[in-house]
Amino acid sequence: MIVFKKANGLSEFLQKQAQKGKKIGFVPTMGALHNGHISLIQSAKKDNTLTVASIFVNPTQFNNPSDYNKYPVTIDNDILLLETFGCDILFLPSVQEMYPEGTAIKNEYELGYLEQILEGKYRPGHFQGVSEIVDRLLRIVNPDHLYIGQKDYQQCMVIAKLIAIMGKTDEINLHICPTLREESGLAMSSRNMRLSANEKQHATLLWQTLLYIRENIKSGDIHYLKEKATAHLSTNGFKVDYVEIANAQDLSPVHTWDGKEKLVALVAAFLNEVRLIDNILLNEE
Ligand code: AMP
Repeated sequence: MIVFKKANGLSEFLQKQAQKGKKIGFVPTMGALHNGHISLIQSAKKDNTLTVASIFVNPTQFNNPSDYNKYPVTIDNDILLLETFGCDILFLPSVQEMYPEGTAIKNEYELGYLEQILEGKYRPGHFQGVSEIVDRLLRIVNPDHLYIGQKDYQQCMVIAKLIAIMGKTDEINLHICPTLREESGLAMSSRNMRLSANEKQHATLLWQTLLYIRENIKSGDIHYLKEKATAHLSTNGFKVDYVEIANAQDLSPVHTWDGKEKLVALVAAFLNEVRLIDNILLNEE
């Protein structure tokens, strides 16, 4: 695996590879890699001749400084994992390299209501930061295929919108990959490293709650189900930001269900200091 720390070097290298006809698959990450990230690498390897991963803990997407400062960093292990699974190139830039003009955000992305709801509401500025860094990374890597996880459901929509804003919908194939879970059902996440063994066990309640929603949803008023799920999590020690049931395509909230509309249930909650998110499609084919 070749490691690039400078954007120019990587760009020039990849441009030459593209001219030789190589297909470039890109997996952007913030490191502290787990099997969920590796599943994206494996998907990229299947479809492309060159797989590029990036590791960059992006300061502009953290609305909470302590979350940024405590974000797990396991770079030696990450490099080992990427090498083991055959990643070809790692982009490992510094903050200075990605934000030479400082981290004050310059662009204003027209994300519309997507950044006012759910994660956008509870993490103001988060999706502007995500858009800023993904925009910069995409311009450097210029991939044919981009791989992201359904685990971050709303982020997938933001990135699809960003690609449209960048006018690259025809150039970049976006792949939304399924969420990898522990045997317990807990969605794999770098933030799980901040949980004790007991907390990890306890955190499985998020997934169980989502399964409960999927099993119990009926057409008609579905508000009660959200309330029941929220109460269940709250009485079991979670500080709930939201439990939402929304249209799976555009995330608009659904209050009365016709029994047909495709739905997704999404949850965000703190277990002690650690904020966890998860989601489930309620009526997949
Ligand atoms: P992160 O390092 O958390 O920014 O995640 C990098 C990419 O991996 C994002 O596209 C995530 O949605 C994806 N990802 C995170 N957790 C999982 C998971 N459990 N399964 C599949 N993909 C994931």
